[in-house]
Amino acid sequence: MSYFRPAIDAMTGYIPGEQPKPGTKIIKLNTNENPYPPSPKAMELLQNLDSEWLRRYPDPFAREFCQAVSDALGVPADWIIVGNGSDELLNVLIRSCAEGSDGAERPPKGDRKVVYPMPTYVLYRTLAAIQPAQVVEVPYSANFQLPIKELVAANGAITFIASPNSPSGHVVPLDDLRELAQQVSGIVAIDEAYVDFAEDTALPLVQEFQNVIVLRTLSKGYSLAGLRMGFGVANPKLLAGLFKVKDSYNIDAIAIAVGTAAMRDQAYKNACADKVKISRTKLALDLKNLGFTVLDSQGNFVLATPTEGNAESLYLALKELGILVRYYKQPGLEDKLRITVGTDEQNQRLIEALVSLKE
Ligand SMILES: *Cc1c(COP(=O)(O)O)cnc(C)c1O
Repeated sequence: MSYFRPAIDAMTGYIPGEQPKPGTKIIKLNTNENPYPPSPKAMELLQNLDSEWLRRYPDPFAREFCQAVSDALGVPADWIIVGNGSDELLNVLIRSCAEGSDGAERPPKGDRKVVYPMPTYVLYRTLAAIQPAQVVEVPYSANFQLPIKELVAANGAITFIASPNSPSGHVVPLDDLRELAQQVSGIVAIDEAYVDFAEDTALPLVQEFQNVIVLRTLSKGYSLAGLRMGFGVANPKLLAGLFKVKDSYNIDAIAIAVGTAAMRDQAYKNACADKVKISRTKLALDLKNLGFTVLDSQGNFVLATPTEGNAESLYLALKELGILVRYYKQPGLEDKLRITVGTDEQNQRLIEALVSLKE
């Protein structure tokens, strides 16, 4: 006897990266937060909070923020949907598009699958399991070529492609994404959580294809993971279905105001991203000099394989020393660590810790 649907009993909950209590003395390189503070303009706004913002319900469409995105990215304001973190938009996409049997129904209804290449962001699987919807996971080859044929054959109601991908850091070439969008009948959601640290974007595809949505977040590039704000860009015809599903007041008034200020301060965001990119190059080099294999990354993290010792014990030893990195106990990743690019000082402390562990 259970209080829950069979799908919920059968699934494992998403395990977020550890979040130590504020004030804990720890170097936190495990959840890809930006090491620099949010835009001073966003902080200034927060200090001058107007009580009217809180007395009233917020704008259900966060139009002020959409206008700021429109000005920054050159896409029309009505091509934008705002989410409580891009995680909420992933959830809305799956709730809008996917369904399948929850194991209790025979015969199973519907066959609207969730498809993505592996390894990638684990939340896609979790959200599909909650729905529930059948998942098809198509493995990437060793060189992270997009397996277009297999993805198309899997026939997803929605296909997720993270680019830059986590935890690998690779970017999927625009031509591959275009080919995928052309060939699938369902939606292609391109998750660009790390685009602010990358050289390319798939944004032009939303003009070409009605079935493409590009997802962005303020959590990484804009240093606002605690604010919970993300957005999607797509043709209004695609957005119309998603607007029916999202909560009416999904973005609170403070987030709208602070997020708008941050979005209007592109210069600050770009300056921080440039620093992170320079630090990323140095961190990768330092890790390679210590014998790690490091994948080229266009995110604010690197995926590193220690050549001696094992990744899990290294993760635990670093934690002992007050440095948190991400370890995934899953096939293909169990010999690797995903390390967020911190400030140069934090990265240096990590390298020193790794040297001390070698001795
Ligand atoms: C961090 C991350 C997100 C989540 O972003 P939020 O806006 O904080 O919900 C989405 N996708 C990927 C690939 C991420 O790494």
